[in-house]
Amino acid sequence: MRKKIFIRGVVQGVGYRPFVYRLAQENKIRGWVNNSSHGVEVHAEGSPENMQNFERDLQKKKPPFAVIHEFESVSLEDTESFTDFKIIQSREEEKATVLILPDLATCPECRQDILDSAGRRYFYPFTNCTNCGPRFSIIRGLPYDRPKTTMAEFTFCPECEEEYHNPENRRFHAQPNACACCGPSLSLTDSAGMSLVPEEPGDAGIIHKVAEFLQGGKIIALKGLGGYQLLADARNEEAVRTLRERKHRERKPLAAMFPSLESARAEVSISPLEEELLLSASAPIVLLERKQTPESGIAPSVAFGNPRLGIMLPYTPLHHLLLTTTDFPVVATSGNLSNEPICIDNAEALRELGSIADFFLSHNRPIERAVDDSVVKIVSGEISLLRRARGHAPLPIRNPHVNRCILATGAHLKNTVALSRRGNIFLSQHIGDLENEKTYSAFTRIMADLESLLEITPEAVVSDKHPGYLSTEFAIRYARERNIPHLSVQHHYAHILSVIAEHRLDTREEKILGVSWDGTGYGDDGDIWGSEFLLADSGSYERIISLEPFFLPGSEKAVKEPWRVLFGIFRQMSSDYDSWDALTTRWERRYEKIMLTPADKKIFYTMLEKNLRTPRTTSMGRLFDAVSALCGFNGSISHEGEASMSLEYAITGNENPAEESLYSLQILEPETPSAPGRIRFHKMIEEILADLETRSVAIISRKFHNTLAHLILQAAQRSGLRRVALSGGVFQNHYLIEKSIALLRATGFTVYTNRSVPVNDGGISLGQAFYGNRHLSGGIEFT
Ligand code: ZN
Ligand code: ZN
Ligand code: FE
Repeated sequence: MRKKIFIRGVVQGVGYRPFVYRLAQENKIRGWVNNSSHGVEVHAEGSPENMQNFERDLQKKKPPFAVIHEFESVSLEDTESFTDFKIIQSREEEKATVLILPDLATCPECRQDILDSAGRRYFYPFTNCTNCGPRFSIIRGLPYDRPKTTMAEFTFCPECEEEYHNPENRRFHAQPNACACCGPSLSLTDSAGMSLVPEEPGDAGIIHKVAEFLQGGKIIALKGLGGYQLLADARNEEAVRTLRERKHRERKPLAAMFPSLESARAEVSISPLEEELLLSASAPIVLLERKQTPESGIAPSVAFGNPRLGIMLPYTPLHHLLLTTTDFPVVATSGNLSNEPICIDNAEALRELGSIADFFLSHNRPIERAVDDSVVKIVSGEISLLRRARGHAPLPIRNPHVNRCILATGAHLKNTVALSRRGNIFLSQHIGDLENEKTYSAFTRIMADLESLLEITPEAVVSDKHPGYLSTEFAIRYARERNIPHLSVQHHYAHILSVIAEHRLDTREEKILGVSWDGTGYGDDGDIWGSEFLLADSGSYERIISLEPFFLPGSEKAVKEPWRVLFGIFRQMSSDYDSWDALTTRWERRYEKIMLTPADKKIFYTMLEKNLRTPRTTSMGRLFDAVSALCGFNGSISHEGEASMSLEYAITGNENPAEESLYSLQILEPETPSAPGRIRFHKMIEEILADLETRSVAIISRKFHNTLAHLILQAAQRSGLRRVALSGGVFQNHYLIEKSIALLRATGFTVYTNRSVPVNDGGISLGQAFYGNRHLSGGIEFT
């Protein structure tokens, strides 16, 4: 019997061919297995019984990281021609349908190899095997073979070559396989690029020296897997503060890498699911709850006043060796200047990070593309990605109804882009905020990179509706150059579509209630939206409820300084200048801080009266900011969401049922049939003002959060629908999302939120690509 078998999915770079080889040996099958751009192709010959067993095994079993999407078997004419089973060399085919694997954290066996002083890979920082090591960050083209990776310039020594060709070996066809004799090696320089040569020779000498530097409070730029990282002793307050000052990163929390799971337990509580995440092949930064009395001695400025800490475990041999040597946690943050892309090139790193790091731990294995660390947390018992990059990109989101090639250019902040093709939406790694030249050029580069790697030629391009975004301008130009349609999707609808796409929700029979809450999104009426309740299906939406609009005096300035938004709301609550002046003065006295001189107050008031530089908004993020200001946040923010986070973190202790009361929020009926119902919140502001006289911010903040969760419940009950989708950056608020989900579920609603893409704007490109598919399929409802 002869058959041709095609297997598609994540089947390259995961030891799939040796796995097939072993199954063939076990079942006395002759023929060959080959990697093609389509996936894996098997030519099998054997007795009917052996063939049956072989096929059954192929369908039932798989190597640890393989993901099978399609299995197809075709009978061939019965003329047998093989005497053995071979793994043959890759050959290229016209269209790639194979999936590219993300970078995988060091496996336990390789970890043992580098710590085994008798083995030939002792202290070798580039050790890997078929089950682990770099993939996406070193691939130059497909199919995945060594000559098409950044390992091409290294030639195997006889021992590595033997491993590579031996199907019984764990390193069989491990493309980046290497050892100290033949592979990449470390280098150490100072910030001027001058080489340092430690007394102890080799990579071990360098690692020991770097550990010493860290111990001594120095800042190290380390060339990691998907780019440079900046390291400092996480226990050393002065070192961490120096890192912050030099990097111009004021208060945004930093993540720490701990030597081991056990050492991390001294700082944070780790559930079994969180433990699994930390130890997984994607090895992300996991946001974990800090212990009340931690014993790890983490410096305060790692994450100021934050009840959670981002923690990761070593994920490359270099990290393992370094952290084993230091035996203390290190801050590990992206090696970039504030808001710029992460550095990947040695010379570039010296240039860009020379003023931040004291020493550079580099190596000569090139990084093909930048991939940041992923960030994950557990929400209502399930994994939720907050930043999707290393360990996940470029794996697709699967949706069987996707059948078009669409390019989606994503959102303005936390940008990712997406490309779709038959059954898959491929999301790029996290790119960043499109606010400077460097990030914008990374954005265009990553799009071109994905297009060529995946060999997708878009039939249409989808962008946000905001006419001024660089991502929109790009899409318009791209569509014109290629003569393809350009579509745009309203931002908050795209958030909800990302949930529909991810969970493959069927919206034909019944729509869903989309709750899309965030900081900024361009509205259909030109206002800045952000507290939207949408009656949605996979093709259209209706905005049914939203906050009563308020104002952003000074526009961008109001985003930076939340008290401005509050002062604007005070204006709406006042009948004239004197009553506004009384309200603002009361606030200023309370916090003993004068925001405006009497003259400036007049100007501020006039600005509001005449609507000068005061855009209208319904942003929930900005309402959070205003309430945070009301409760005492009287400075300017150093990073997005800081004010609302500080309000969330003010909630301490457990809920006291006796205090379970809510503020007044009223949903007003729409003024016209096409207008949304408006949420009136001025009374709530008055009530909070009154509460401030007698209650703690902890209680007020909890009450405010509970009020919003009940608002969602109330809207869900009014809608008459059974399914609710929560999306948008505001739902990064841990208390709010868990409370909302719990309330809705307890009342019988089915709740969906983003899990495998970020709930923030990092997930927008998924919603956009999905929209493009729906639109190009002739508006036919599918799911
Ligand atoms: Zn390994
Ligand atoms: Zn070697
Ligand atoms: Fe958003």
